[in-house]
Amino acid sequence: MPEVIRTLAGWRSYAEGRRRKGERLGLTMTMGALHAGHESLLERSRAQCDASLATIFVNPLQFDRVEDLERYEVDLEADLDVCDRHGVDAVLAPSTHEVWPLWPEATPTAVRVRGLTEAFEGADRPGHFDGVATVVTKLLVATGECTAYFGEKDFQQLCVVRRLVLDLSLPAAVVACPTVREDDGLACSSRNARLAPEARKRATVLHRALLAGAGAVESGDVGSAERVMREVAATEPEMHLAYAAVVEPATLHEVRDASPGTELRLLVAGVLEGVRLLDNAAAVVGAR
Ligand code: AMP
Repeated sequence: MPEVIRTLAGWRSYAEGRRRKGERLGLTMTMGALHAGHESLLERSRAQCDASLATIFVNPLQFDRVEDLERYEVDLEADLDVCDRHGVDAVLAPSTHEVWPLWPEATPTAVRVRGLTEAFEGADRPGHFDGVATVVTKLLVATGECTAYFGEKDFQQLCVVRRLVLDLSLPAAVVACPTVREDDGLACSSRNARLAPEARKRATVLHRALLAGAGAVESGDVGSAERVMREVAATEPEMHLAYAAVVEPATLHEVRDASPGTELRLLVAGVLEGVRLLDNAAAVVGAR
């Protein structure tokens, strides 16, 4: 079983101890409720590093709605079993107070990645990315030099993390891992469990919209991709689309045209039965 560490000071000295032995550290940050998506990150970390470390912390700062925070269920024992199966050496599982000592008092210190966080998820979830960027910074600083594994599933978050690591010169190499999907295409997410069976089937419409949008980009018609995604999403009227967009992958600027060979990202999100779902896909202009 992995060693479970409860304090940031304990985590810092554990990481330092492993590095002192000349080991390369892999880090996977999660909010628990581990599923196949998280497992793919843990696998990469185990395969590429000498010591595989994971954090399990439900970060209250990144929840814009208290109800979502209260509904977020984590079974630490079950998650530790998953970590054990993937050869994780140590897990940081701190209390809220360990990470944010004055919680629930507002935390005035924040890392804000301007330009990448206002649109898409940020538009509907005020403060979400400040909460993510701040906790990621805190955990990366506590861990020190490492390779940090993030999922492409949360593509905007991945861009934000890459940018803050660059701008703050944090000693972390960020590795992006592909989105893990269920057999029917639905991206694995802890939120999927909140969908009733009928809604669960309808939820695949986001993936179908992405496939259609990617088809448009690959046929060279970047300008029609957003409309195509919206049309497919509209075939499931209960899916309330939040956005569908084609963006430049590093800046997240929306793109209506691009030269052949350019790699773009398609982003979609929607709310189904009160559950917010997001997904994305890469597509190369004119690839077909
Ligand atoms: P979370 O616990 O939701 O904060 O996610 C922790 C990490 O797992 C993030 O880097 C996510 O992008 C990644 N992740 C979540 N779902 C998936 C998935 N379906 N495929 C790949 N990575 C994922």
